Amino acid sequence: MCLFCKIVNREIKADVVRENEHALAFRDIHPAAPTHLLVIPKRHIAAIHDATAEDAALLGQLMLLARDVAEEVGLAENGYRLVVNNGRDAGQSVFHIHVHVLGGRALAWPPG
Ligand code: 5GP
Ligand code: ZN
Repeated sequence: MCLFCKIVNREIKADVVRENEHALAFRDIHPAAPTHLLVIPKRHIAAIHDATAEDAALLGQLMLLARDVAEEVGLAENGYRLVVNNGRDAGQSVFHIHVHVLGGRALAWPPG
């Protein structure tokens, strides 16, 4: 079972900020910004490149949950960034799809 599936199953601890039937939002263990959350589906999908048309609703729910948690932790006014890394060149290190929610400081663009 993958690392994030273990977090979903509470086999590994995480600082969960929001949960619903389909998804979980928790704090990144190595924050890259003052606020850094991860939003994941409870169902294992390895990466955006592995998603199918059947996953469309779930992917939409992840985006909306990311929006809601950003609001909840106070990022809505100044703004925030949602990031999905896919594969080696993007630096994806956990192969269970996740949306990074980054905020709390001005973020450089383009990313490195
Ligand atoms: P990726 O590089 O795959 O886009 O992002 C994976 C993220 O998961 C990284 O930002 C990393 O810090 C985070 N991460 C890795 N292991 C754990 C863990 O055990 N707990 C939590 N909360 N975050 C983790
Ligand atoms: Zn998984």
